[in-house]
Amino acid sequence: MAERENRNTVEIEEDKHGGVWRLYSSEVMAALIIVVLVIAVAFFVNKFFYGFDLPELSFSEPVVSDQYSGPGKKEKSFVQSEDWRLVLVNRDHPLEEDFDGELTELRYGQSVDSRIYPDLQAMFDEMRAAGLDPRVVQGYRTSEEQKERLDNKISEYMGYGKTREEAWQLAVQWEAEPGTSEHETGLCVDISSDSGDNESANAVWEWMDENCSRFGFIKRYPNNKSSVTGVKGEPWHYRYVGPEAAQEITAGNTTLEEYLGAAR
Ligand SMILES: [Zn+2]
Repeated sequence: MAERENRNTVEIEEDKHGGVWRLYSSEVMAALIIVVLVIAVAFFVNKFFYGFDLPELSFSEPVVSDQYSGPGKKEKSFVQSEDWRLVLVNRDHPLEEDFDGELTELRYGQSVDSRIYPDLQAMFDEMRAAGLDPRVVQGYRTSEEQKERLDNKISEYMGYGKTREEAWQLAVQWEAEPGTSEHETGLCVDISSDSGDNESANAVWEWMDENCSRFGFIKRYPNNKSSVTGVKGEPWHYRYVGPEAAQEITAGNTTLEEYLGAAR
């Protein structure tokens, strides 16, 4: 404080009219320079470590990756169906609100929307009667869990030396962004076999592909439809849409996007 008072006095003595202002002016300049420096440093640190396009900021602008080059443009006038079974969740259509329905817990700790449970159970009963050993390995997932999965995938790629931006580009090919995973609806299941080996899992998926539509399920991400769904083939992922829609979609060899008129 002593020094400041001293400077003040000196300035005033030097110039009785402008001294005080000049003192302020130099302090303001110094403060401004510090602020600019802090912003510049923060900016470069941010760019260096995270890149500019943080995944969290890109909800409304889905990244178009190689396998997501469907013809035409995004259907802008799409309106979600009133039918809960037909809710569309993908990169273009994030969930509008978090799941707030009832969940039913399954044998190995996974859970699903209680409304699809009876059909799921009936389907598994029939599969088991046919000598198969199906198992739900993933059901409902919260958006926090989805975020964690994506973050882990990003870290994994960064561990291989990718920048955050590159890592994110790669990670979103495997993990949906929070709000855009169908698992957050509780209406889909990833199915494998109890034993978990390829042969028994394949047998389960083969049975599913032939029979699941009778129980209201569809194979949601067929291999040859990734340009429409935006998701690489996932033989294990089945979605409940109700028997009528399931049979139409399966018979027409089509997708939920096409069925709802929401394909790009
Ligand atoms: Zn899945």
